[in-house]
Amino acid sequence: MSSPSRYDRQTRLGVIGRAGQQRIEQSRVAVLGCGALGTVAADILARAGVGTLCLIDRDVVEWSNLQRQSLYHEADAIAGRAKAEVAAERLTLANSTVRYEPRVADVTADNIGELLSGVDLAIDASDNFSIRFLLNDYSLRYRLPWVHGGCVGTTGQVMFFRGEGKPCFRCLVPQPPPSTAVATCDTAGVLGSATHAIASLQATDALKWLSGNEQSIRRGVWSLDFWENRSREVALPAALSESCPACGRGELTFLDAVGEHSGGAAEVLCGRDSVQLPAPRGAGDEIPQLAALAARWGQLGEVQTTRFFARLTLPDQLTLTVFRDGRTVVDGTRDPSKAKSLHARYVGG
Ligand SMILES: [Zn+2]
Repeated sequence: MSSPSRYDRQTRLGVIGRAGQQRIEQSRVAVLGCGALGTVAADILARAGVGTLCLIDRDVVEWSNLQRQSLYHEADAIAGRAKAEVAAERLTLANSTVRYEPRVADVTADNIGELLSGVDLAIDASDNFSIRFLLNDYSLRYRLPWVHGGCVGTTGQVMFFRGEGKPCFRCLVPQPPPSTAVATCDTAGVLGSATHAIASLQATDALKWLSGNEQSIRRGVWSLDFWENRSREVALPAALSESCPACGRGELTFLDAVGEHSGGAAEVLCGRDSVQLPAPRGAGDEIPQLAALAARWGQLGEVQTTRFFARLTLPDQLTLTVFRDGRTVVDGTRDPSKAKSLHARYVGG
C-alpha cells in the first residue's frame, strides 16, 4: 500500500527531490547482518523507500539483543526466531511497498556472489572481520560500493567505499586481527545509542549514494566516541593504498578462498555457550530436508520447525538448530567435539 504523501518530507529536501527519490526506489541494497547496525540501517532505508532490501543474517534473536536491536521483541527471543525473517516481517509493517528478501545464511566466499547478485550497494553491519574482508574483496572485483560501520563500547566508526579501491578497507586494516585481540560487544559491551548513531550515519551515506549525491559523501574514516564527545575524520594517505594487498596489489585472497570455508572447522560462537558447525562439505546448495529431520527427531525432545530452521531441544537443555543452508548451531556447550558428536548422533551426514 502506498499514499502519495509517504515520501513527502524526503522529496521536499532539495538534495533528494523527486528525481533522487525515484533513484532510491529503483535500488537494491543488501544489509549484511541484522543485528544492532543492520536493524537500524534497514529500518531507515525501508522507510526511505529503497526498492529491494536483502536482509542477510545467520543468527536467531536472543535476550541480549533487545537492548539495542530495535526491530525485535521479547517474543522473538523466547521463540528463538531467525533475525532475517523477523526483520523482514517488522519492516513490512513499516513499508509494505518495499520488496524484502530475507536470507538466513552465513556469508562465505562460496555464496557471496549469489547473496549480492544485482545489488547496487551493501551495508556492512556484520559483527566479524571475516565477512568484512570478504565483502571488501567482492566490492573491488565487482565495483560494488559499500558502507562500513563498526561499533563497540561507546565508540564507533563509519566509512564509505566506492568499490574502486585506493582506498579500500584493507588500506585501513591490512590483515584480520587475531580474534583474541579484538574487543567485541560480547566482551566490552556496547551503548545502544551509539549503535543507532553509527547505523544512522551508514544509512545517510547510502541515501546520498543512491539518490545521486556522491559528492556529499565524506572521504575519510569517521571515528566517534559518543560518551567522551570526541570525533575525528581521517583521510587515508595514498601511501597506504600503494602497499595495500587488495587494491594495491590485487590479491583478493578472501574471495578466492572458495570452497575452503565449507566443511571447515567448528566455530565457538563469540560470547555464547554455542558451537557452530558448517554445512557438510559437498552439500552445495542442497537444502537439508528440515521437515524429514524434525519427523525423525519425534520423541527425542521438543521439536520446532520454521521456514528457516529445525530445532531439537533435548531434555538436558542442549539444543541443535539446523538451518536451511546446512549449518548447525549447538547451544549449551562450548566444546566442539561434543557438538560434533551430538551432530553425528541427531543429524547425521
Ligand atoms: Zn586497499
